[in-house]
Amino acid sequence: MVATPIGNLADIGQRALAVLGAVELVLAEDTRHSRRLLDHYAIRTRLAALHEHNERAALPGLLEQLAAGHDLALVSDAGTPLISDPGFRLVRAARAQGFQVSAVPGPCAAICALSVAGLPTDRFLFAGFLPAKAGQRRTELATLAAETATVVLYEAPRRLLETLDDLVAVFGPARRAVLARELTKLHETVLDGTLAELRERLASDPEQRLGEAVLLVAGAPGAAAADAEVRRLLRALLDEGLAVSRAAAVAQRVTGQPHRALYRLAQALHDGEAESQDGAAPPA
Ligand code: SAM
Repeated sequence: MVATPIGNLADIGQRALAVLGAVELVLAEDTRHSRRLLDHYAIRTRLAALHEHNERAALPGLLEQLAAGHDLALVSDAGTPLISDPGFRLVRAARAQGFQVSAVPGPCAAICALSVAGLPTDRFLFAGFLPAKAGQRRTELATLAAETATVVLYEAPRRLLETLDDLVAVFGPARRAVLARELTKLHETVLDGTLAELRERLASDPEQRLGEAVLLVAGAPGAAAADAEVRRLLRALLDEGLAVSRAAAVAQRVTGQPHRALYRLAQALHDGEAESQDGAAPPA
């Protein structure tokens, strides 16, 4: 499994070049695309197509080749094979038959994006491409909204704005996010802000919708942290002199939480404050 560059041809390792030059056959998603990479490095190995439409049918023949002692390499158009790319069936079948499957590591857009985004990386959830259909996409996002790990998404340029609209609607406008675009290429851009800010930026600047992009969304705060954050927000609004109902309404807009619960919490904070003021009142 040989990783290849995600845009910058220089991002290929010595071992990848050696393996691509040494194997009997290089399996590639798009042979014309990978031919350009091999030509660039003067590698003459034969290429054959392996993509999602022929992977199942090609399997028996490929397993026969492995059984005959031939070494095969698999590459995708860009990055690490199998990561939102074909090859899973081949790896599963090859391993099941006892063939050695080795990784020749290299670029992966998700990992590159995480390394420059400045969002927590101790835990992340790679969600790949969201469904193309709007309803399915929103349902999928709803299952991710409470995820506390950083969520990593791949997206096609033509759907970026639509996906940001959905993210704003489902995750709330205030969630922090990063758009890592054209990584390793001339127009590499890393934008960060709230989901609403990113959405506005893309809506007003069509250039930011071009090219390839990874979207990273900060995880939801854990329940305790979320609770503390909402309390802090309500406390600040009440301190600014907002009435309980107004503070709850503003907090609802910011957090997307139900008004009734926010109102009750705001009331409790307000009453607690009144009590403590009473308690602190100077003796007559
Ligand atoms: N296997 C690849 C990998 O390891 O990253 C991913 C292949 S997937 C079909 C293609 C998606 O990866 C693009 O739609 C985009 O979301 C992301 N991607 C690939 N190259 C990128 C780049 N240079 N900058 C940002 N995102 C990229």
